[in-house]
Amino acid sequence: MPIYEYYCEKCNETFSVFQSINADGNDTRCPKCDSNNVKKKVSSFSCCSIGGGSSSFSPSGGFGGG
Ligand SMILES: [Zn+2]
Repeated sequence: MPIYEYYCEKCNETFSVFQSINADGNDTRCPKCDSNNVKKKVSSFSCCSIGGGSSSFSPSGGFGGG
């Protein structure tokens, strides 16, 4: 399933949503302010284009057990 990037003109929030290829995207709402004033961003096919998320991964794992 492709990922589409949207841009909210209300809160200036950029988010990505999973939509089908046949999806119209008219009922897309901003997950932040729940506004429908969003615009689909045109993303070109590029390697590892998806990103920008803020995932906090702990560098120190805990594989000890015990
Ligand atoms: Zn918004």
